[in-house]
Amino acid sequence: MKLEFDPALPITARHHEIRDALRDHQVVVVAGETGSGKTTQLPKIAAELGRTKIAHTQPRRIAARSVAARIAQECDVELGAEVGYAVRFDDKSGPDTVVRLVTDGLLLTELQHDRRLERYDTIIIDEAHERSLSIDFLLGYLRELLPRRPELKVVVTSATIDVERFAALFSTPERPVPIIEVSGRTYPVEVRYRPLDREDDVIDGIVSAIRELPRDGDVLVFLPGERDIRDTAEVLEGQSLGDVVPLYGRLAAHEQQRVFQTGPRRRIVLATNVAETSITVPGIRYVVDPGLARISRFSTRLKVQRLPIERISQASAAQRAGRCGRVADGICIRLYDEEDFESRPEFTDPEIQRTNLASVILQMASLDLGDIRDFGFLDAPDHRAVADGLTLLRELDALAPGRDGSDRLTKLGRTMSRLPLDPRHARMVLAADRLGVLPEVLVIVAGLSIQDVRERPLDKQQAADTQHARFRQPDSDFLSLLKLWDYLQERRDELSHTKFRRMCHDEFLHYLRVREWADVNSQLRRTVRELGLKPGKVRKEPDADAIHRALLHGLLSHVGLRDAETREYLGARGARFSIFPGSGLAKKPPRWIMAGELVETSRLFARDNARVDPAWVEKAAGHLLKHQYSEPRWSAKRGAAVATQRSTLYGLPVVVDRTVMLAQH
Ligand code: ADP
Ligand code: MG
Repeated sequence: MKLEFDPALPITARHHEIRDALRDHQVVVVAGETGSGKTTQLPKIAAELGRTKIAHTQPRRIAARSVAARIAQECDVELGAEVGYAVRFDDKSGPDTVVRLVTDGLLLTELQHDRRLERYDTIIIDEAHERSLSIDFLLGYLRELLPRRPELKVVVTSATIDVERFAALFSTPERPVPIIEVSGRTYPVEVRYRPLDREDDVIDGIVSAIRELPRDGDVLVFLPGERDIRDTAEVLEGQSLGDVVPLYGRLAAHEQQRVFQTGPRRRIVLATNVAETSITVPGIRYVVDPGLARISRFSTRLKVQRLPIERISQASAAQRAGRCGRVADGICIRLYDEEDFESRPEFTDPEIQRTNLASVILQMASLDLGDIRDFGFLDAPDHRAVADGLTLLRELDALAPGRDGSDRLTKLGRTMSRLPLDPRHARMVLAADRLGVLPEVLVIVAGLSIQDVRERPLDKQQAADTQHARFRQPDSDFLSLLKLWDYLQERRDELSHTKFRRMCHDEFLHYLRVREWADVNSQLRRTVRELGLKPGKVRKEPDADAIHRALLHGLLSHVGLRDAETREYLGARGARFSIFPGSGLAKKPPRWIMAGELVETSRLFARDNARVDPAWVEKAAGHLLKHQYSEPRWSAKRGAAVATQRSTLYGLPVVVDRTVMLAQH
């Protein structure tokens, strides 16, 4: 493994200082401008110190892969040998791997079978300023672990935000943690404010901003997501303003690599937030910033996950502008006005304060880490969010009250914590095993955990709908998914790779996501096998009722009862929602449904639905039902005392006017 350091990188000037600090301290914080070389050079510095088992975490999969490829290239080794990566469902590392790029989420799941992280001698937590829930949890965990692993070294890196707090978390009065700031050379960036005429004219705004800029350097445009990137690319392709280069998580590796290839022609790079600090795109002289990002937020009231597009913070806006001042003077055009900028929050709040905590609480319970409220987090989670997380885990039967009334991890909960899945999905998988429909539910869960493979381009919606209608199953979007899966398996067997790819395109199926679906499914099959379960083959005629009963175990608070008057569904705890227009159930809405997901956009929408039988709900929700008995009376017919039973699930009447016998004493 070749360990050479490029003198042109700002970090190289501090190389020896960092190396000595890491030799003399257990924890070192390295802060610095994006592009200064932290991500690519720090693992090499650790390797130089003789460290041989280095975990290097990234917030996103796309960054884990591309950073691993880059370091392998710099060290002149094959990817997967001394330098490798592992992300959820994809492991390219081996016994010789010295530097292992992982997502922070993956490192968290490794804790399950390696409590002391013995597999590593060094852990680099990169991009700590992102303050994702996984990062915060890892930092808190490492803080408790370090005294018990004196030989373990930790490097925390961050953009120049909040640096002292990271050091303070690990510092003791005797051993303060050193902070090394790497200052990159930066050039002045001129910020221009060009507010949009209308708020929904983002693409027009981008086009006129690009026209305003000189043609002598590459342009980086920030967009909220893949869909916006593809829409914008389509408009730009026709305008001969430059080569359009997209950058988002789901691109194939070689497509991602394109952002690193500069050429004589001007490039317009359309990127998600990943280009804000994670990936440094070379050659950028100009930035166009609409000021938006998709930020995951959890709504406490309705207990649904939201992914709204939000205005970014001032700190993010400054980071984005900084992307064009690395090689020469730059210009950043913001598609909003200065007043708008001033009114924005200084920083994005940490994810722990805005997300669903169920998954972390489950992990913590399985690691015996005690009450989440007492854990050494950088910022404590909101108490309502903790309560919601606990409620969901009780609903899923992962937690149950112990003898003393406090929550205890159930056997089911322990197994769930070992599945790399959202707790709801994990619950479905375990129910499926018991109901004999494991392979089918794995396919469905894999399909639900990625973005929909069915595409619906704005200008060809009808054609797309016609194609997709072939898979539609009455009363169940989940079975439609399974039908589509069958179809894809058949065609893949029949067709050559190229023909299959073309078929996907012609039939409005997103090829890369189709591939991802298959990858996720086979990884899930591997994981459940490790847990001792036996996923057989997906059946041609699966037991539809059993599948739905299995799914229901994960969706008890997503059950809805149709209100004939308003045509909305009444959900748990007084929520009201509508069927998403793209759902197969939208035309003929059944009385009872369960929703795979409740998404709040303009309204609360239920995505991926199926009809359910209230009798199944009664059976699956035994631990959650509230029963009332009224009108006790004598029944001559039954020769017993009877009463009228009414049972509710989170306020929904699952049983009404049922005559039941009263217990005979
Ligand atoms: P930091 O982590 O401090 O933001 P990095 O280590 O990511 O900095 O980047 C250092 C330099 O390496 C940047 O100039 C970046 O453009 C370059 N670089 C990183 N990855 C690649 C790659 N895959 N191909 C070419 N250049 C890369
Ligand atoms: Mg970096």
